Amino acid sequence: SDLLDEKLKEVAERQHEELAPAIERVWLDGIESIRADLREWMRRAADDPEHWRPEWFELAFGLSDRAHRDPHSSADPVAIEGGLSLRGSIDLLERDPAGRIRVTDHKTGKVRAEKNFVIGGGKTLQPVLYALAAESVLKEKIYAGRLYYCTAAGGYEERVVEINDEARAASRKFVAIIKEALTAGFFPAAPDDRECDWCDYKRVCGPYEERRSKIKPAARLKSLKTLREMP
Ligand code: SF4
Repeated sequence: SDLLDEKLKEVAERQHEELAPAIERVWLDGIESIRADLREWMRRAADDPEHWRPEWFELAFGLSDRAHRDPHSSADPVAIEGGLSLRGSIDLLERDPAGRIRVTDHKTGKVRAEKNFVIGGGKTLQPVLYALAAESVLKEKIYAGRLYYCTAAGGYEERVVEINDEARAASRKFVAIIKEALTAGFFPAAPDDRECDWCDYKRVCGPYEERRSKIKPAARLKSLKTLREMP
């Protein structure tokens, strides 16, 4: 925990210099809350009953300008089955004593994902797509993709998606639906129930888009509906 404090101090000082916060008290409270989250995160990692061990950090693909990427990263984007090309960076990959590998995407907010899902209607894609991207970069099978809500706000909960035949089929179907829309150039505004409520683009779309889209011919939105119904 001394090393953690030392690193936090180092990063906080650097960011303080860069951001010049207006109210010192608010800044210090924010740093203390990060410290508490990190300590609990580290305690849980050390006590992990399944003994997952970190092996790769910031494994990037197609982000050659990343300063802190893992040395196994790929400078080029990776193509997953179906031909979708991905760029990104995976926070952490670990291996367990049985040799299985899982990818983790750290989340700092509240838990948004359902308890059981695969791609969550196309809204929660990281576990499956990151796992497939990692397979392509490392040339190793990935056992699972995981969202880890690693703060008090997220209750240190995790959501794990096993990379099995169902997950691979879901990814292929997702890619096919996106490809169909790209080929047709068809991207209608078709928000799901209450999706507009908290959307940053509401100012652009106006307050009636959800109501307006309900009267559009449903036949043209069939693929989108299929995607939204996928687990
Ligand atoms: S506000 Fe616009 S962009 Fe946002 S969900 Fe609604 S229709 Fe979509």
